[in-house]
Amino acid sequence: MDILVQPLNRIIRAAPGVNLLDALRAAQVPMSYSCLSGRCGICRCRVLDGEVLDGGREQQRPLDGMDGAVLACQTYVTEPCTIEVPTPEEAVVHRARVAKAKVVALDPMAAGIRRLLLRPARPMEFSPGQYAQLAFTPAHARPYSMAGLPGDELLEFHVQLVPKGRVSDHIAGQLRVGDTVKVSGPLGAAYLRKQHTGPILCVAGATGLAPVLSVVRGAVASGMRNPIDLYFGLRSPRELYGLAWLDALRQAHPALRVHVVMASGADPATQRRGLVTQAIAQDHDSLRGWQAYLCGSPPMVETTMLVALGKGIEATHIHAEAFYMQGD
Ligand SMILES: Cc1cc2nc3c(=O)[nH]c(=O)nc-3n(C[C@H](O)[C@H](O)[C@H](O)COP(=O)(O)OP(=O)(O)OC[C@H]3O[C@@H](n4cnc5c(N)ncnc54)[C@H](O)[C@@H]3O)c2cc1C
Repeated sequence: MDILVQPLNRIIRAAPGVNLLDALRAAQVPMSYSCLSGRCGICRCRVLDGEVLDGGREQQRPLDGMDGAVLACQTYVTEPCTIEVPTPEEAVVHRARVAKAKVVALDPMAAGIRRLLLRPARPMEFSPGQYAQLAFTPAHARPYSMAGLPGDELLEFHVQLVPKGRVSDHIAGQLRVGDTVKVSGPLGAAYLRKQHTGPILCVAGATGLAPVLSVVRGAVASGMRNPIDLYFGLRSPRELYGLAWLDALRQAHPALRVHVVMASGADPATQRRGLVTQAIAQDHDSLRGWQAYLCGSPPMVETTMLVALGKGIEATHIHAEAFYMQGD
């Protein structure tokens, strides 16, 4: 069965009944996606010709009344059709590979937050903001986002230990320096768009700082001069980490403004009280022309997305990495 993908004018072959997002990804069509459950709205595309099955209509958000708009992750294709995908301004496709890496450091950074440094057997190509699947054992594997840059000697990850979490418990109790980890990646579409010249909104919830740091580090390393507003949302001061890195980035990039926003226990001299969504709503009348990188817990990412859309940002300019639970 053929699916004609526009505006790429590319025909991809797929078996009847295939999930549209799976088919596009298998054919390496550059597609942004995040939640895989019809909630975040990122993988929106249009059906120009033919019929498709909409597997998750009840869960879908209204799609702006766009004719033929569907969410690829919720769509199943049973007959030849023509699909229009959003034109990626900057598609980067690094082939995902599997490599072994050694744990070289596992350091506490704040309550329940560890910094994990891995030395890969061979360098991994990725774009700032992407993630990898880390398999500590065959039964302990989860995605984690790179905080550093491609070309760094070590891969850096920030892990928030989740109470009674299967992989969290393994990292906290079993993992040791010198252990081998299987790294599969890179994955994810919330990578830095280097051709964008306008302002950038970065929003990190807790260890969502990892991909956001990577994005800002990437912007600075590429000589981008864009104004960047970075909101770092935390529940309490116990979770606070990374300020020295943010200060260093501010020195290197004076157009970077950092807002640390705490739900409770904020120090009013240096931090803001409340939620990142409130802080963004207070600070910005309009986000028209901005690009946004939203990383962290799904509720934070989803509510920030709604605020940003309400302030006029284009949906295709939102690059989100929501840390959805993976299950086993
Ligand atoms: C694309 C992607 C990138 C990610 N990047 C990072 C990263 O850079 N840093 C990081 O710390 N995490 C990241 N995560 C989350 C991470 O993959 C795991 O989901 C998390 O570490 C919990 O795994 P676990 O096995 O310990 O918990 P599980 O055994 O899977 O879950 C145990 C219980 O913990 C709760 N829970 C699970 N996940 C979370 C969560 N994220 N927040 C709060 N409660 C939760 C649930 O109630 C669940 O019942 C990412 C997730 C995705 C999808």
